[in-house]
Amino acid sequence: GSFDAMGIREDLLRGIYGYGFEKPSAIQQRAVVPIIAGRDVIAQAQSGTGKTSMVSLSVCQVIDTNIHEVQALILSPTRELATQTERVMQAVGNYMSVSVHACVGGKSIGEDIRKLEAGVHVVSGTPGRVCDMIKRRTLRTRAIKLLVLDEADEMLTRGFKDQIYDVYRYLPPELQHVI
Ligand code: AMP
Repeated sequence: GSFDAMGIREDLLRGIYGYGFEKPSAIQQRAVVPIIAGRDVIAQAQSGTGKTSMVSLSVCQVIDTNIHEVQALILSPTRELATQTERVMQAVGNYMSVSVHACVGGKSIGEDIRKLEAGVHVVSGTPGRVCDMIKRRTLRTRAIKLLVLDEADEMLTRGFKDQIYDVYRYLPPELQHVI
């Protein structure tokens, strides 16, 4: 398999190759095409096998950059993972002007507000801060079509269950899931 055969947009392909990826890892081979086709996907893999990259490039592909609203929300159990996902998305999405913001605890709320109000396509965050931004109506959820629960098991063991349910109350009913 190759990235070329996956139906990935040209500008994103450039970003993927530019980032140094030559061919998809095993989990990318199995999951990218179903995700970009809009299907719900449960992807279980050990860490370091390309799952963060899989999420990053799949999300870039499903975003319409002409629509200046949040279209994908990625929830992660740690600030580090949420920020890592933001970085990989910015790298692979380098040629397609996708705007990503990491919405995590411990960072300035003012900065979150500025970024979100300026308009971003993707939010990668931890449940607590994301929930906070949604309740302030700074993070607008009406255009969200894809929800990624990265390391969902870890989020549950870290006690994020209530916050994730809380986030759900604000999400549109028709939602694609990647877990
Ligand atoms: P990840 O699980 O996505 O964080 O990936 C683990 C490591 O493998 C990271 O250093 C990635 O940059 C790298 N990686 C992920 N996918 C690929 C790929 N298709 N080709 C080469 N390296 C990759």
